[in-house]
Amino acid sequence: MQMLKDAILERGKALNQDVLLVDSFLNHQVDVPLMKAIGEEFAKYFANKGLTRIVTIESSGIAPAAFTALAMGLPLVIMKKQTSKIMNGDLLQTTVRSFTKGTQYELTVKHEFLPAGEKILLIDDFLASGEAAFGVLNLVQQAGSEVCGVGIVIEKAFQSGHQRLADLGMDVYSLARIASMSADSIEFAD
Ligand code: 5GP
Repeated sequence: MQMLKDAILERGKALNQDVLLVDSFLNHQVDVPLMKAIGEEFAKYFANKGLTRIVTIESSGIAPAAFTALAMGLPLVIMKKQTSKIMNGDLLQTTVRSFTKGTQYELTVKHEFLPAGEKILLIDDFLASGEAAFGVLNLVQQAGSEVCGVGIVIEKAFQSGHQRLADLGMDVYSLARIASMSADSIEFAD
């Protein structure tokens, strides 16, 4: 997706070989027209899969996932990284290792918002090692539903996430795939 690649090259910043800063257009300041185009692109790709619900992880996945949900006319559910006292009822939980922070968190969703029998599209901002995506797969399985597609805004193709998901037979569609990066260059895989 050329518009996204241009944003990455012009406004992204590789902090090192592993971490790309995209806070100028994706997860702090948000380029809304770009998010709309991203949502429409995911909607086009995943159009004929009989999907019933979009799932994402707070907070960076919310903007692209919301526009995807709007374009597809589907409900959106945000999985939480933090629980609170007011979050009670029937909760589904699993532990996920955070790539960026080097910590762990309890990925949590209310069962009522992720019921059984749903066909889920997971949308997230980044795919790196795949830990976050595997956390979502775990919760969806606990719920008795099925992940039928994974839409990723930026995939770091030099990390293992895509292969791990492909090994499970997942349909993974990444809008920009980074082959390598350093402080002064970003190379795309295709
Ligand atoms: P994974 O679980 O696949 O290792 O990492 C995916 C999650 O980590 C994403 O949800 C994203 O929030 C965060 N992440 C991974 N790599 C990067 C990166 O290079 N930059 C930013 N900003 N976030 C990342």
